[in-house]
Amino acid sequence: MEPLAIPEFCRGIASPCLVTTAGAQRVVQELESRGIQCTAAIPYKPFMRETPQASPPDPRWRGIVGGIRIRKVRQSFTAPQRLRVETTLGKDLKDLIPIMARLIRGGAYRPAARMFAFEEEHRLISFSRDSFIISRADDLLDAWIMLRCGVDLMCSAWDKRNSLEPEHEARHGIGAIEIFKRLPGDNCGQCRCGNCMEFAQEVFTCRRRVVECVPLFEQRNSRYLESICWLGDVIGITVERSRPALEHDMRRHVPRPHHATAEQSPGKSESSANIEGENDSPAAGSWGSARRPPE
Ligand code: SF4
Repeated sequence: MEPLAIPEFCRGIASPCLVTTAGAQRVVQELESRGIQCTAAIPYKPFMRETPQASPPDPRWRGIVGGIRIRKVRQSFTAPQRLRVETTLGKDLKDLIPIMARLIRGGAYRPAARMFAFEEEHRLISFSRDSFIISRADDLLDAWIMLRCGVDLMCSAWDKRNSLEPEHEARHGIGAIEIFKRLPGDNCGQCRCGNCMEFAQEVFTCRRRVVECVPLFEQRNSRYLESICWLGDVIGITVERSRPALEHDMRRHVPRPHHATAEQSPGKSESSANIEGENDSPAAGSWGSARRPPE
């Protein structure tokens, strides 16, 4: 077992890592029995690309975001070969998120909820007031790079907080594919759609509700439900956690019109913004240029 050196560009941001040749779970148990918390045991693959040689993060970063605690690293649900890294921020980002949404074009943005998310190639990056989540990172190195880019974005928003108008307009820059990824994929038609993709599009446009997918609420699909609940919170679609509402709605058999409240109509309101899927307006701006930490 030996420590894995964290790159200079991510010093202080990422947690210490250990490499073990076998028995990772046993190592985790041993560490935890001694009061040392671990966020994950993940298969280690040697990085197949060069580690960026870049400067350490802006020394002010900790004061700006209040520190970052990596609370969980796990397999991505929508892309099991990739990682999902969940972090908790030490400070409330409520004043920075509208500036970050101004700095980054595209993505989904809910101003009232202070939720902002966008795609970075196949990854999904999301910010809320107290968390920063990287979904579908390629590997540990990629997660480190994304962490550093996130810190740079938050620092950049801090620098521009008095000179840039906060973003007030909701955005819905991500399509139905992320909903589709979290449906069971049975194509059974119980939702009265031809297939799951059609249903996802209907949900995205608020003509259907997630709860109308019957198999989603079966025990075998509990992880799909968990994942789509998370997505719903981030993008603002309503996701019921249980079936009774569904049965009631199905009996009525009424197609859902745009029940457009300010929180529920994609393209017109903030909360139906979809986050983790197709994106016809790619994330760009400062994040795009920050794909690699500055040399
Ligand atoms: S009920 Fe669910 S699993 Fe069946 S086709 Fe509709 S979305 Fe797909």
